[in-house]
Amino acid sequence: MAENNLIRNATVDEKKEFVELTGKRNYVDKVIDLITKEQQKFVILHKPFCARCARLDFEDNIAKVQKTQNENVNPTQEDLQVEVPNMSDYSKASRFELIDVNPVFEDKLIDGMRASTETGKWDNYKCKNRGCGLSVFVPKLAEKK
Ligand SMILES: [Zn+2]
Repeated sequence: MAENNLIRNATVDEKKEFVELTGKRNYVDKVIDLITKEQQKFVILHKPFCARCARLDFEDNIAKVQKTQNENVNPTQEDLQVEVPNMSDYSKASRFELIDVNPVFEDKLIDGMRASTETGKWDNYKCKNRGCGLSVFVPKLAEKK
């Protein structure tokens, strides 16, 4: 049956590949986790943070190490000296251009009447470094502060 072919055990060669891929994720994920954590901080602050550039800069740093040191350098190596981008670079106000603002309306019951109420806004930014588009939700309460 054809289905049986899909669940056969991996050959020895395939197993090697699986280990490599898993290792790669482990190393790179540590930095991706750092970027994600930093990004979440700015979601709470309702400020832009360009996670896309942080990831791409980190990938560039890996590529640089592979180019200058050894093209066979394995990005899964735990002790690999790859510069982790400085996270504060990706939240600098000067990095972003505010493109437009979209108010957000929600239906709310006010004195028993359903009324459309402005509950916040989306600030749409462009990251000047790579032209990344970012949308940051700012709730009405945070806006007033
Ligand atoms: Zn960017």
